[in-house]
Amino acid sequence: MSPPKVVIAGAGPAGLMAAEVLARGGARVTVHDRMPSPARRLLMAGRGGLNLTHSEPFEALAGRYGARTGRLAPLLRAFTPGDLRAWADGLGQDTFVGSSGRVFPRALKASPLLRAWLARLDALGVELSLRSAWAGWDADGRPRFRGPDGVETGVEADALLLALGGATEARV
Ligand SMILES: Cc1cc2nc3c(=O)[nH]c(=O)nc-3n(C[C@H](O)[C@H](O)[C@H](O)COP(=O)(O)OP(=O)(O)OC[C@H]3O[C@@H](n4cnc5c(N)ncnc54)[C@H](O)[C@@H]3O)c2cc1C
Repeated sequence: MSPPKVVIAGAGPAGLMAAEVLARGGARVTVHDRMPSPARRLLMAGRGGLNLTHSEPFEALAGRYGARTGRLAPLLRAFTPGDLRAWADGLGQDTFVGSSGRVFPRALKASPLLRAWLARLDALGVELSLRSAWAGWDADGRPRFRGPDGVETGVEADALLLALGGATEARV
């Protein structure tokens, strides 16, 4: 049986992390993004030092999600702040705890982390398709992507994962 093909729309941190996990699990993964380069918002976040997570005890951190703590705590437990720091460390991005308890990469920017992450994804066989905007589904139920020439093409996939980010800053 050939490995499942997963198409991800959105090359921000959510889409890239999903790509890493799925590729490690044996899936063939292509990540599409409508922009000409991936993770632009992550790079913007890096300008502020890139607050990756917080060092406070797990229960305090989980409690910050208020009414949604019950739903989110199992997800946070499955990938803890410690796991995130170890992941960044694995990309050569050592982290430190600031005076506020927040955790930052020692480089205080996102670009080295992103570079190492993209190299890792490339080594895992993840393909990037840039200037390729998810535009819905075609008549056969396949996800449709619009290229820079405006032409929309249906793409074969066993699964589509949408990681399109929020709508607050649609331009990045
Ligand atoms: C100035 C600034 C500072 C920040 N500082 C921090 C910080 O210190 N720490 C922190 O944790 N967070 C910070 N954030 C927030 C952080 O950047 C976001 O939470 C994070 O980028 C969200 O990741 P995401 O993958 O969900 O979405 P995004 O990063 O928004 O990625 C979504 C991707 O989907 C693509 N996309 C959208 N629609 C389509 C489509 N139809 N087809 C194909 N692609 C599409 C977009 O081009 C984008 O690349 C900051 C944000 C900003 C703007």
